[in-house]
Amino acid sequence: MSQTESSNVPYDLLIVGGGVNGAGIARDATGRGASVLLVEQDDLASYTSSASTKLIHGGLRYLEYYEFRLVREALMERERLLKMAPHIIWPMRFVLPHSKLVRPAWMLRAGLFLYDHLASNMTLPKSRGIDFRTHSSGRALKPEYTKGFVYSDGWVQDSRLVVLNAIDAAQRGADIRTRTRLVAASRVNGLWEATLEDRTTGATSTVRARALVNAAGPWVARLLADTLKVPNSKSVRLVKGSHIVVPRVFEGPQAYIFQNPDKRIVFAIPYEQDFTLIGTTDIPWEQEPGKVAIAADEISYLCESVNRYFRATVKESDVVWSYAGLRPLYDDASANASAVTRDYVLDLDTQNGAPLLSIFGGKITTYRKLAEHALEKLAPVLPAVAGQSWTANEVLPGGDIGEGGFTAALDRLRRAAPWLPEGLAWRLMRNYGSRAYEIIGEATSLAEMGLLPGGDLGTREIDYLITHEWARTAEDVLWRRSKLGLHINDAAKAGVETYMRQKLG
Ligand SMILES: Cc1cc2nc3c(=O)[nH]c(=O)nc-3n(C[C@H](O)[C@H](O)[C@H](O)COP(=O)(O)OP(=O)(O)OC[C@H]3O[C@@H](n4cnc5c(N)ncnc54)[C@H](O)[C@@H]3O)c2cc1C
Repeated sequence: MSQTESSNVPYDLLIVGGGVNGAGIARDATGRGASVLLVEQDDLASYTSSASTKLIHGGLRYLEYYEFRLVREALMERERLLKMAPHIIWPMRFVLPHSKLVRPAWMLRAGLFLYDHLASNMTLPKSRGIDFRTHSSGRALKPEYTKGFVYSDGWVQDSRLVVLNAIDAAQRGADIRTRTRLVAASRVNGLWEATLEDRTTGATSTVRARALVNAAGPWVARLLADTLKVPNSKSVRLVKGSHIVVPRVFEGPQAYIFQNPDKRIVFAIPYEQDFTLIGTTDIPWEQEPGKVAIAADEISYLCESVNRYFRATVKESDVVWSYAGLRPLYDDASANASAVTRDYVLDLDTQNGAPLLSIFGGKITTYRKLAEHALEKLAPVLPAVAGQSWTANEVLPGGDIGEGGFTAALDRLRRAAPWLPEGLAWRLMRNYGSRAYEIIGEATSLAEMGLLPGGDLGTREIDYLITHEWARTAEDVLWRRSKLGLHINDAAKAGVETYMRQKLG
């Protein structure tokens, strides 16, 4: 039981939802001095925030929908995030072949020019035209594609971004409770009184808070209507998006962005060294939110989309893993699921007593700015969050990797622990940045990392994930704190499960 709860002092802020938006708000608010409780019904980033395409991007295609505000904000954020978390976020070049059947070359050129110039703080290389007959990225493409463009965006390990925000919030004093669901809440004497269910034990408890943030993502409307029983005129549009992972289709560090005849775009991205990530789709979702899975026709669509461009053929049987998520988009009444705005809307309800802020929409890329806007909106009614915004230049945990960027940081780690195999050193630096040293701790040999059979995952790392990153199951470790699930076999996965069961009882 936390001090705030036991002393019956209300929290300033109760945040419902441990996706990127909830975790980002928790970090920002705690840093401003507010007392914060965040509850997440499953693991951190269990839903949409681990199911994205993992791009830190302005969203080139949103320019077609005149979303200039969103694109500009996202491009500005791209630069900030690259500096805040250089271990888990890195630049990537995107190759865009020109196809006569879709958009004219002048339109792509104009769009890219705008994309390069909308943000004033761009440090990444700008876009340029390329000839696939001579450029190395052309080798993977069918010979009919001769011309195209290359531009910059960023890549993020999405679920790790959520966890890093939660760690930072917790280090600053936030109470982060995973596997804890908000089951009821009402306004009592100017405060929120909320009932929480511990989903591991089934026990319920009551907490009080001055304000409530509804960052429930796909559940945002359900939480308002069914749990809080608060009327709201805004609605959410759930749009499913799926990805497939196949053995690597092309060489090189660049990603590809392909235009489809239906005007949609599909990405093919180098993934986890040995794989290619392909996505995504836009399928309206009318059912309850929850875990969703890719459908057979989405797999065919994604294979067809890349087969139109790549020399190599991707088949359904090549798929080694897939994932799907629900975009909780603000419903702007667009007829087409691809056209629904990707911008966010913050709805503040103060009319009925204690403040309630609900978040509709948003992107991983804009989560930090969304958090700032959310607190600006709350500040007049919640003085505890009225402090200066502070997150723009503060690194996330592990992001202080030092001079010279990732490569230099990796070299330093390898010199400090020369006994670490190259792949493991790389993975530790990519996932944990400077915190890799905490995992290594006193270990002076590989044996002391406690490697489990069948992979490079050791008990030291798992213990760290349990103690500092809220990992409770093998799935948390293998699919959200890392993507080791893609690299190790079933026996090794079972080993992780057994170890965690023994450790956690
Ligand atoms: C296919 C796809 C591709 C995308 N690609 C990109 C991309 O490349 N770049 C980008 O910037 N954005 C991308 N996005 C958008 C981005 O992923 C989302 O906007 C973002 O993750 C939403 O985060 P969230 O915190 O609002 O929601 P979520 O991550 O879903 O978090 C909400 C959380 O609330 C919890 N919750 C709900 N009800 C309760 C309750 N009663 N009690 C406790 N907890 C509760 C849920 O368990 C959930 O974990 C993509 C989205 C999709 C689906």
